Amino acid sequence: MTLEPFRAEIGAVNDLLCAASLLTWDSRTMMPAGGAATRGLQIATLIRAARDRLLGDAMARALDQARRAVEGLPEDHADARAVAQTLAAVAHHARVPAALVEARAALRTQAQAAWTQARETSDYALFAPHLDETVRLARDYADAVGYEAHRYDAMVGLFEPGETARSLADLFAALRAGIAPILDAARGRAPARSDFLARGYAMEGQRAFGLSIAERFGYDLRRGRLDTTVHPFEVSFTREDVRITTRYRPDYLPGSLFGIFHETGHALYEQNVDPAHTRTTLATDLIGLYAVGGTSFGAHESQSRLWENHVARTPTFWANHFPELQAHFPAELADVDADAFYAAVTRAEPGFIRVEADELTYDLHIMLRVELETALMAGDLTVSDLPGAWDETMRRDLDLVVPDARRGVLQDVHWSSGYVGSFPTYTIGNVMAAQLMEAVREDDPGAVAAMERADYAPLADWLRAAVWRHGRRFGRDELLVRATGRALDPAPYLRHLAAKYG
Ligand code: ZN
Repeated sequence: MTLEPFRAEIGAVNDLLCAASLLTWDSRTMMPAGGAATRGLQIATLIRAARDRLLGDAMARALDQARRAVEGLPEDHADARAVAQTLAAVAHHARVPAALVEARAALRTQAQAAWTQARETSDYALFAPHLDETVRLARDYADAVGYEAHRYDAMVGLFEPGETARSLADLFAALRAGIAPILDAARGRAPARSDFLARGYAMEGQRAFGLSIAERFGYDLRRGRLDTTVHPFEVSFTREDVRITTRYRPDYLPGSLFGIFHETGHALYEQNVDPAHTRTTLATDLIGLYAVGGTSFGAHESQSRLWENHVARTPTFWANHFPELQAHFPAELADVDADAFYAAVTRAEPGFIRVEADELTYDLHIMLRVELETALMAGDLTVSDLPGAWDETMRRDLDLVVPDARRGVLQDVHWSSGYVGSFPTYTIGNVMAAQLMEAVREDDPGAVAAMERADYAPLADWLRAAVWRHGRRFGRDELLVRATGRALDPAPYLRHLAAKYG
């Protein structure tokens, strides 16, 4: 028995999904606005073709052969894992009626258009009917794929397999209890000066500095590029072409810089997946139908957060690199030094907007969303009561009065995209990044010492060996146990926040 037909079929599925991702990248960087309607159809057609191929007769025959070919291999052998994951994905998609897949895809296009308009005018009523339908279809989807305790489990499992409403409630309770006293202490202090971050920074200097740091981190520009977009993201079409994007604001220098460092973390993961996994199941999310080498959304976010917050948002980093930034902006930064710059980009101050939140309050924004979407899925909260519940939770957690829906319930794109269940992965990424960094410190103190000399290669080597090269071979907790000896654990993250903000 041979694995060749199976590899060929999965290779074709991966090709279709990479092509769909390339069309998405284009739609968010290059495409004229007029292309939106037909582009949505093109992407949907490619993804449907990938799903059909996965559920097709040729795949069934190839899988049958492959299943016998891997008999006797260790359960965690790359080929055994590829076959097992593909069988699970086929079973998953077979449970979801094609009409439901199409209804969700069609709704996404309409819901995003309605959300864009609703956010511009801060008019929740424009979006509410679409959100109502989104929640209804998410419930249908959860019922189709199945779950044990809570409908939400089926949705969160699409992004972070293994997590459930219950496990997240436990994680969030631990984080809430740990963050509260640190936040209280931080609030008692006067915020650092940050006025100089708004001094009209030219895009060219932001781009040149950001890209030079990305390369220093190990981002390979022969297999990557940086473009401009509205909502920054990283995307890969196999490890050989891994692109990042950012946006430049003259009046907010850290936006593009930390954005580039963040997306570089994602890109390093993808560029360093074992080449043997290229065009295989171990570099394809066959459940989400997305070509990606990272093992879960949370694991992916751990890499972006690690480089953004544990490497770049540190006094050492700015002691090393602030002079280079200053060389790009000699007039704007003439009266600023590395310490003042670090203090400005680390200041903790509760705000309305998740994507602008500091490290200390960020997870409270996530917990709010997860609490509300869990209640929506359970039917404990209606879409019409959502804005009120949002505002009440903001007051409870951050002591802020939300001024309008644009800065409240309408701020995120996720629900309009049908991504119910994806928010927890941001916090999981934060937790996992701290856990991995603690392991690096214990395991390879030389890598930390090298960072003080602005040499990031030993850190990248550790991460390549522990995380990146494996692609999707190991699940998130399996990866963490191998790398740190423990499954996901909030303690290192709370220690990190206390050390930085306590
Ligand atoms: Zn990210």
